[in-house]
Amino acid sequence: MEIYFYNTLTKSKDKFKPINPKEIRIYSCGPTVYKDATIGNMRTNIFQDVLRRVLKYNGYNIKHAMNITDVGHLVSDADEGEDKMLKSAREENKTPLEIAEHYTKIFFEDLNALNVETPEIVCKATEHIKEMLEYVEKLVNNGYAYETSTAIYFDISKLDKYPILSNLDIEKQKAGARVDIDPEKKNPYDFALWIKAPENHLMKWDSPWGLSYPGWHIECSAMGQKYLGEQFDIHTGGIDLIPTHHENEIAQSKGRCGKIPANYWMHGEYLLINGGKMSKSLGNVYLVKDIKEKGYDPIVYKLFSYSSHYRNKLNFTWEGIDAASKSLERLRNSYQVNLNGKDELTPEDKEKLMQVEENFHKAINDDLNMPLAMSFVWETARFEKKNPEVAEMLAKFDTVLGIKIDEINSKDEDIPQEILDLVEQRKIARENKDWAKSDELRDLIAEKGYVVKDTKDGMSIDKK
Ligand code: AMP
Ligand code: ZN
Repeated sequence: MEIYFYNTLTKSKDKFKPINPKEIRIYSCGPTVYKDATIGNMRTNIFQDVLRRVLKYNGYNIKHAMNITDVGHLVSDADEGEDKMLKSAREENKTPLEIAEHYTKIFFEDLNALNVETPEIVCKATEHIKEMLEYVEKLVNNGYAYETSTAIYFDISKLDKYPILSNLDIEKQKAGARVDIDPEKKNPYDFALWIKAPENHLMKWDSPWGLSYPGWHIECSAMGQKYLGEQFDIHTGGIDLIPTHHENEIAQSKGRCGKIPANYWMHGEYLLINGGKMSKSLGNVYLVKDIKEKGYDPIVYKLFSYSSHYRNKLNFTWEGIDAASKSLERLRNSYQVNLNGKDELTPEDKEKLMQVEENFHKAINDDLNMPLAMSFVWETARFEKKNPEVAEMLAKFDTVLGIKIDEINSKDEDIPQEILDLVEQRKIARENKDWAKSDELRDLIAEKGYVVKDTKDGMSIDKK
């Protein structure tokens, strides 16, 4: 089945044509490990996880690289201010390495809690200084870079076109240009490839330009090229990366080898909180940890994120999380009920299921339309007949959703075996249409402190 992705490069939904169908190569801009990743950052990671899973659903093998930025990302994305790692190290009274290790560990724990797959390649900026230096030297040799007293800058005037991805009107911007920090820059939009380290700077390496450190954009270009080649299939990130970081990655690649590094550029929209921005000053920054502390399985957040298309804004509310928590419980319950279901499926039922699968597949292949895909997941979960084949279909959908649908709801786990046996006996009584016995067993279960309910999704057992 054909796959379509919205491509920021062409500004249209394009049919996906792999460079090499045997292996799809994807690059994702990873975290700057200077602070806790928020659930906003995690929304972008969930979108990238869905992309991976959808490609696999379509039978593709993938090679996905994600970087860890542990140097060079300045406080302002426009090459200004202090390095974010150094700022954190100073504030937390730790070394930059300690900061990087601490936040990298938490980042992967969060991904794991959300059942987000780890990319095949995870690469740290500080372990690729050699590759970055080679890249910058090549740009200098090709005439795309120049040295100032503080840095090596990329010269955007050497490109046939800049910008390519964003709608930035640089001529207009130039007219009303802000006072530029570095008066030696030839154009306001020239950006630092390599930065000369001031004295006492903690992170610096030997280079032809003395002790210095990489700019943020060169990291992704150098690592992307090393692991995925000069041109790969898909480049992803959050929408905030379009106008500076990704624009500059394209500029660098054009300067180095004349090519745009990826054919498809996919960007995830922002998570909002109560309709606005998440910010420390408003006290509304939430982490995966906060979701756990409120007693929710973090996967609930993943399911919640499927309520909006990845290219639309999503508004976070605790009510939304609560509703998603109930949905997760219902889906897992339906899976268990179907696994043990004894209803026979007619050829018409099987035909219906196949149609739902096709609809699901079309939805995910249509630029990862998860809200639509979820409607077909629910259609399956509410399928009239309860049968293991329905459970199998739900498990197949879960290879994309990644919500661990086969996990038993934790409430059920606490239910004693004696009660589960009585529930099983009641199920048999109902299958035999022995309603008197069924009611008798329900009363007995109630005497022992449990309520058994027959819902449209199957049976549920709760403590009274
Ligand atoms: P930051 O830690 O702010 O540099 O963010 C890392 C990446 O996470 C950004 O480049 C964004 O793509 C993404 N991101 C940050 N905040 C949000 C948000 N509220 N919603 C979705 N993605 C976000
Ligand atoms: Zn990047």
